[in-house]
Amino acid sequence: MTAITLAAPLAGWAMPLSEVPDPAFAQGLVGTGMAIDPTVNELRSPCDGTVLSVHRARHACTVRTASGAEILLHLGVDTVGLNGEGFTAHVQDGQSVKTGDRLISFDMDLVGSRAQSLVSMMVVVNDGYTVDGQSVDREIAAGDAAMTVHGGSGADAGLPASGPDSAEEGDGETGERSVVLPIASGLHARPAAALVAATKAYPGTVTIHCRDRRANAKSVVALMGLGTMLGDRLTVRAAGPGAQDMAESVAVLIEGGLGDPVVATLAAGAAAGAGSQATPATPPAAPAPAQPAAEEEVGPPFAHGEEVLLKGTIAVPGQAVGAVVRRFRSTVRVVEQGAGPDIEEPRLRRALEQVVAGLAQSAQRMPEHAAIFQAHRELLDDPELLDGALADIRAGKSAEWSWQRMARLQADALAALADPRMAERAADLRDLEQQVLTALSGKGPDVGLAELPAGSIVLADEILPSDLAGVPAGRLAGIGMAHGGPTSHAVILAAALGVPTVVALGRQAERVPDGAPVVIDGNRGELLVFPPEDTLAATRTAVAARTARREENRLTSREECRMADGTRIEVFANLGRVSDAPGAVVEGAEGCGLLRTEFLFLERQSAPTEDEQYQQYQQIADALEGRPLVIRTLDVGGDKPLSYLPLPKEENPVLGLRGVRVGLREPELLRAQIRAILRVKPAGVCRIMVPMIASPSELQAVRAMVDEERAKLGRAEPIELGAMIEVPAAALIADRIGAVADFLSIGTNDLTQYVLAMDRGNPHVAAQLDALHPGVLRLIRLAVMGAKTHDRVVAVCGGSASDPMAAPLLIGLGVTELSATPAVIADLKAFIRTLRMEDCRRVAEAALGTDSADEVRRLVAESWPAL
Ligand code: PEP
Ligand code: MG
Repeated sequence: MTAITLAAPLAGWAMPLSEVPDPAFAQGLVGTGMAIDPTVNELRSPCDGTVLSVHRARHACTVRTASGAEILLHLGVDTVGLNGEGFTAHVQDGQSVKTGDRLISFDMDLVGSRAQSLVSMMVVVNDGYTVDGQSVDREIAAGDAAMTVHGGSGADAGLPASGPDSAEEGDGETGERSVVLPIASGLHARPAAALVAATKAYPGTVTIHCRDRRANAKSVVALMGLGTMLGDRLTVRAAGPGAQDMAESVAVLIEGGLGDPVVATLAAGAAAGAGSQATPATPPAAPAPAQPAAEEEVGPPFAHGEEVLLKGTIAVPGQAVGAVVRRFRSTVRVVEQGAGPDIEEPRLRRALEQVVAGLAQSAQRMPEHAAIFQAHRELLDDPELLDGALADIRAGKSAEWSWQRMARLQADALAALADPRMAERAADLRDLEQQVLTALSGKGPDVGLAELPAGSIVLADEILPSDLAGVPAGRLAGIGMAHGGPTSHAVILAAALGVPTVVALGRQAERVPDGAPVVIDGNRGELLVFPPEDTLAATRTAVAARTARREENRLTSREECRMADGTRIEVFANLGRVSDAPGAVVEGAEGCGLLRTEFLFLERQSAPTEDEQYQQYQQIADALEGRPLVIRTLDVGGDKPLSYLPLPKEENPVLGLRGVRVGLREPELLRAQIRAILRVKPAGVCRIMVPMIASPSELQAVRAMVDEERAKLGRAEPIELGAMIEVPAAALIADRIGAVADFLSIGTNDLTQYVLAMDRGNPHVAAQLDALHPGVLRLIRLAVMGAKTHDRVVAVCGGSASDPMAAPLLIGLGVTELSATPAVIADLKAFIRTLRMEDCRRVAEAALGTDSADEVRRLVAESWPAL
């Protein structure tokens, strides 16, 4: 029998455990010891010993003395929920420590403001020890004698506390039951203590198994050391009399939350979440196609160092290495019962103030979108919303519950109105619901993407075009989206920024923790989480080589583009905003083959005036220094609604009012745009291109408008008017459309969507949405042949024009102009310069006779292995 004196691990006010504001500690369920209300921010070791475990959330650690006593040091009350925020661990599991060594430091302001209390506990948690001589009810200095532990011999007899799942249960009665852990912070001190209390008196053994590890259910430390997380599947095993009943009753207790709130929705499907897409990152022999993910339940965060490969869909090619910045819509847990109006009302008001301040900052950062933030502000000021929430709070509900209920009530009421502008307001309200809930959870507002640390890889449900506005070069190294399709407008902007992007990763992407090192591979559509060091190094080398190659290609990229046999191919740029234009010229663009003018119209409260449009078009024309500028008329509707343009709610919006159909329905909008284009000087520089043409009559109607506006403006010079070929019917009758169009430009994004009957924004079909499908290629050939009957130029301005694998095929099919995203132009021109027309024709012909896009890609790869 030995006795050791433990030193105070903190300075502060020492108190008996019974005064701790946590019943599990106060009632001695966790162990015996004392508490200190700290005045310092460093936790030090109370004895010589070994660190048994540092909790995943870094708020607690256990030290084992030479006599075998396990001392749990637990900083604050309800600190596990901070998930490590504000805590820094200075030791690791298994490390030897001396009395006074620093174990954990913490941010007193942050932890003090977020946790229920900073009062910290030091308790002996294993059997066979007694504690006395607690020096309490006084100021104590770190290192002062604090209490004495008696007992033990040095070896901790019996079942090992935790470890790999190898122990046998013996020959007697055994029982087993599996259960999904429904506790937000896993088995932390309080639920672990409750579990120990329930199993202690049982004469046999009870063990909890989780991910190849097991813990003695009678040991708080062992249970905490399992590192369990919400949604983990646990197996309870008992050995001894009535073992099955014991296992059952322990499982039922776990299902009941062991005194912590039960998180029902996540727990229900967590076991499924560990499956499909998340696989250990051993190189797969044949990559499985991305699984549809919408119904999939998400599991717990991937553990640090757990190498995982997530498969998605290629959106923007290229590779990058970086640290993850999460931008998932927050999933804040909402508990109905509040702590009383005196606490809940000020909480709600503070959260609202925080959101208002965030909106003001956003408006300053993005003045061009200030109107949106002002509209949000007005919604927050709505007295009905606040009064309703306050009434609930006064009836005893929590701030979260009350705010969510009122925000949802109002959003649903707005969404039910037929007016689509009201539906937009409903979306705004849902956004605000989340923002306020996030503020209530104590989390600060997300920093804008413009303020990211350099080399960030952003993971999100879906990035919006507005998120990408104003992101400086170099900050954003890569993007991974759980949802989204490869040709969404956000992807188009990401491509313009040259940021490798993978979409349709599924909800498993939500399990990647903030700051995790990852490799994003836009060439294969993969995200590798916690990659091994050699993979990181190899990827960095590949990225550097690619950058060097591009730099070399940029030396010649401003020269005109001719194939190896001298055939002229024009390489233009797709642009979406004024600021894209100068960079595109530097990259070697020989003009702009598609100006997506809808980016000037989206994210506004009213349409840009004719003058505003004219100024922007003129600036772009000036930046192009006389090179041609193809301006596409407004392509809204479908997935690109305008809040200020009332269009009827449609069952199938992509098959409804979009593109030219909107322009013909709203002629004043189209005419203003036409006038703005006609005013650009010099007169010959602009061409007008019309989206979603299905029949010649639509183009003729637009031409009539152009002629009328030209006459009104007194402009003598004609202007070229082209048709986009993105509706299959237009490709089939390109000879008829070519008769009335001055040029044709194939939009492969929409053409592929409509030919394959696959929504370009739907993650379930994203992996199959490939413009190199032979069905799409055959239509492109028909379109080219039709146009040639009238000697019309045929361009491609959809995503295929930026895909180097598509270039030889498109050229082989007769396309003479490619309009690509600026970031790929230098490499694209360099590649085209190596091509010969006879090879392109041969391979294109062979591609038309294949069964699938995969086969086509194999053909191209065999012919041009360097790709
Ligand atoms: C297309 O559909 O290919 C196209 C270029 O238009 P957008 O992607 O803007 O719909
Ligand atoms: Mg289109």
